[in-house]
Amino acid sequence: MRWALIGASRIASSYMIDAIRAQDGAGIQSVLSSSSERGAAFAREHDIPESFTDLDAQLADDTVDAVYISTTNEKHYPQALAAIEAGKHVLCEKPLAMTLDDAARMVRLAAEKGVVFATNHHLRNAGSHLAIRGLIEDGRIGEVLSARVFHAVNLPEHLRGWRINDAAAGGGVIPDITVHDADTVRFHLGEDPIEVVAKAGTSGMGQGVEDSVMSVWSMPSGAMVQAHESFTHQFAGTGIEIHGSKGSVFARNVMTQEPVGQIRIVTAEGERNVPFDGHNLYHRSLGLFTGAVAGNGRPSADGVDGVKSLAVALAVREAAQSGKAVRVDYGGF
Ligand code: NDP
Repeated sequence: MRWALIGASRIASSYMIDAIRAQDGAGIQSVLSSSSERGAAFAREHDIPESFTDLDAQLADDTVDAVYISTTNEKHYPQALAAIEAGKHVLCEKPLAMTLDDAARMVRLAAEKGVVFATNHHLRNAGSHLAIRGLIEDGRIGEVLSARVFHAVNLPEHLRGWRINDAAAGGGVIPDITVHDADTVRFHLGEDPIEVVAKAGTSGMGQGVEDSVMSVWSMPSGAMVQAHESFTHQFAGTGIEIHGSKGSVFARNVMTQEPVGQIRIVTAEGERNVPFDGHNLYHRSLGLFTGAVAGNGRPSADGVDGVKSLAVALAVREAAQSGKAVRVDYGGF
C-alpha cells in the first residue's frame, strides 16, 4: 500500500511515519507542505521520494492508495474531500473538521465513493484501554454508573503554537483533547452522550482559545461522565475511572500516546492490578486501517466515530459558552 502524507507535521514525524512503515509492504511516496523548503527538508529527513505544495498534483499520483492528513484542524475538511474525490482511502487526524456538517460530509462522501475513511483516535488502540473495555464487557464491574476522565496535562513547550493562540486553525483544548476523551468514553461505555454541561476558560496559556475545561455528560443508560481537560497542569497526571454496580476500575497515566500506565480493579472479592499488552498504539491503528482497505474488518475508529467525538466536543464548547445544558447533535449519525 502506498501512502501520501498531507501535512509536514510533528505527529507524522514522531509516530505515524514509523507506524505506516511498520506495515508489511507499505511505503510513503510523498508529503504535502505549504512551504516548498519545509516539505523538501521533511522529505529528505524521512527518506520520502517526493514533496508537493499543490494538493491536486500530489493526489494525481495513481500509485498512491491512501493519504494520512495531519495538517492543522481547519485544513482537514477541504483536503479530505479532495482526497476522497481522487479515490484515495483516508486516515484523518482528529478533530475531523471545524463543524459537524463538514465532518458529516467527509464521512458521507467517503461512503459514496467506496473508500475507507478513519479517524486517528489512538487511545482505543492502547492495551490499557482494550483491557478496561474487556473488564466492562465481561461484566466485572456490573452496570456502569459513572466515569471520570482526567486529562489535564502540561502542554509541552514545542506544541505551544497554533493550539494555544489560533482559533481559526482549530486551537483550544476542546478540539485538541476533549475529542479524544469523548471517543474513549464512547469506546468503553458503548453509548453516546445525550446532553452536556460545561465550564471552560484560560488558566495561563490560552490566548483567545480555552486552555482548560470541565464538563459533565449524561448517557442514555443513566450513567454520568465527568471530564477534565487542560494544557496547564504540570503534575496532575492523567487517567480514567469507571465505577459500576459491582466494582470500580482505576487507571492511571493511560491517556497518553505511549503503551504505559497502571490499571487496578476493586470488587467485593478485593483489589488487584490488571495486566495489559504493551503494543504500540499507532501500529495497531495502522494495522486495522490496512486490513480494512484489504476488505478485512474495520478501522479502530472510523469516520462515524470521528463525527461523534467532534459532536460531543462541539456541544461541550457550546455549553461552556452559553452556560446552558446542550443536547449533543450527531448530525443524523
Ligand atoms: P504541527 O504543528 O506539528 O503541524 C501542523 C502543521 O503546521 C503542519 O502541517 C505544517 O504545515 C505546519 N508546521 C509544522 N512545523 C512547522 C514549522 N516549523 N513552522 C511552520 N509551520 C510548521 O501539528 P501536530 O503534529 O501537533 O498536529 C497535527 C494534527 O494532528 C492536528 O490535527 C492534531 O490535532 C493532530 N494530532 C493528533 C494526535 C493523535 O495522537 N491522534 C497527536 C498530535 C496531533 P505544512 O504541512 O503546510 O508544512
